[in-house]
Amino acid sequence: NLSDKLDKAFHILKGHGKITEVNVAETLKEVRRALLDADVNFKIAKDFTTKVKEKAIGQDVLTTLQPGQLLVKLVKDELTELMGGDVAGINLSGTPSVILMSGLQGSGKTTFSGKLANYLKTKKNKKPLLVACDIYRPAAINQLHVVGDQIGVEVYSEPENKNPVEIAQNAIKHAKANGFNVVIVDTAGRLAVDQEMMDEIARVHKAIQPQETLFVVDAMTGQDAVNTAKAFNDILNFDGVILTKLDGDTRGGAAISIKSVVNKPIKFVGTGEKMDAIDVFYPIRMAERILGMGDVVSLVERAQEQFDEEEARKIQKKIAKNEFGFDDFLSQIQQVKKMGNMKDLVGMIPGASKAMKDVEIEDDAFKHIEAIIHSMTPLERSKPAVIDVKRKARIAKGSGTKIEQVNQLMKQFEQMSKMMKMMQGPGGKNLMKMMGG
Ligand code: GDP
Ligand code: MG
Repeated sequence: NLSDKLDKAFHILKGHGKITEVNVAETLKEVRRALLDADVNFKIAKDFTTKVKEKAIGQDVLTTLQPGQLLVKLVKDELTELMGGDVAGINLSGTPSVILMSGLQGSGKTTFSGKLANYLKTKKNKKPLLVACDIYRPAAINQLHVVGDQIGVEVYSEPENKNPVEIAQNAIKHAKANGFNVVIVDTAGRLAVDQEMMDEIARVHKAIQPQETLFVVDAMTGQDAVNTAKAFNDILNFDGVILTKLDGDTRGGAAISIKSVVNKPIKFVGTGEKMDAIDVFYPIRMAERILGMGDVVSLVERAQEQFDEEEARKIQKKIAKNEFGFDDFLSQIQQVKKMGNMKDLVGMIPGASKAMKDVEIEDDAFKHIEAIIHSMTPLERSKPAVIDVKRKARIAKGSGTKIEQVNQLMKQFEQMSKMMKMMQGPGGKNLMKMMGG
């Protein structure tokens, strides 16, 4: 994959003292090959490496970074820039704001319509209405109703009406009359770009004048994605791109190419079939992911999201008063477990994904820790300082562990208490800084 290729490319630079025309050329050739393999358009890959090369050569060799690191940074910055630099928002200014989905059949329009409705409902406090304008397959209307039921969002459809323009217009009237503030219009796609589909979506677009027209594209389609994006953009002049199926064998290439060919921001990504598998697109994270640097920010955010606010406040108070104990530690572990599969989490930590690739991580990795804590008395849990050698031996025996394991846990606990003191403050922003910076 692309990360491995780039790893190899950067490896060439290792051991060299400074960036020279010769070693940078060799490495960037590998970078270019890697990009091409990831389906990045040839011209884009070439321009990209030329740009990085210009920046790399003549870099101050007195920098504290190794040449390899410096080049990684340059490649990362340049990739980020190429994918749009900043995060692009979504326009929700209308009353209601109308969002039109476009894209080929199977790209993930219907699924994403549901995800977006769910996201706007739960995260942005909106009242969305989903509209079924795929009139060619009865199953399509059904599919949207199933999605709507799952997330508790109303779906507007007219099974007998064969005119998507009318359906969309009626839906907007319905939304206005019933207090919906966002209208998400799901449309029909075809397997390939054809005139009829383009005419139809253009008619709907013209009739409803959406605040946001989104082009949905399957990230796995690589080079084809660029041509499709161009065709839709020529007709609709869309506002943003949705990159779906990034959970698959991802080809970061599509993100890079689409952005540079149509010059429209990628706004969201789809990372699974479930309704919560949606993420705002962060160019820098995508660049890091492509380069195999792990997605630390996502990890931290995911952790924060799962972390019960109330619980957090309680624990912060305890830390402040030096009352953080093993019961709190236990509930922290439960929080971590809620975040999901351990392997997924470890995979998001930079450097760890590689090292841990062949290591089996069991989801019950915390089994021993929980057993040990359960063997402690309430006093020991709330005042860990009282745990002496004698108590340790009893705890080890009671939990069926070795005294070394108890010692190890005590140490981990101390470290964690220390760290939590350091990251005090709303939202654990300091932790993010620590991990990211
Ligand atoms: P549409 O024809 O454009 O409406 O596409 P659908 O929404 O029906 O999606 C086509 C298929 O792709 C369905 O089986 C979806 O479950 C699947 N799908 C959509 N988005 C994602 C995603 O982000 N990840 C994965 N793995 N599958 C997805
Ligand atoms: Mg559909």
